[in-house]
Amino acid sequence: MYEFYAQDIRHPQSKEIYEQLEILHEQLIKLGYQPNESVLTKKEINVELSIYGHSERLAIAFNLISTPPGTTIYLTKNLRMCIDCHEVSKLIARLTQREIIARDKLRIHYFTKDGRCSCDDHF
Ligand SMILES: [Zn+2]
Ligand SMILES: [Zn+2]
Repeated sequence: MYEFYAQDIRHPQSKEIYEQLEILHEQLIKLGYQPNESVLTKKEINVELSIYGHSERLAIAFNLISTPPGTTIYLTKNLRMCIDCHEVSKLIARLTQREIIARDKLRIHYFTKDGRCSCDDHF
């Protein structure tokens, strides 16, 4: 278990994690993903440095590079997952064919390999 904060660079594999995120985002954009800028705070004018660096994405990227293909990814977050990370998690689950189980402050999101979430987006 490893703990990530937004824009975290303390992890020894930070470079690999951010590279993995960059590759993922390129693939997501091809799938039609557009960052939901409504989740940005006023300070976060740079999309790349802000929502791309949300802790759950770092944790997903870390799992992708550190566990064998197909391994289920478990995340916990002490806040509510933002809508953009929710969308990205669905896409990543489909893209990588990995199940992602994310427990946030309110519920458990179970992202399936066909790109859906158990919460049906009611969150
Ligand atoms: Zn987020
Ligand atoms: Zn959900």
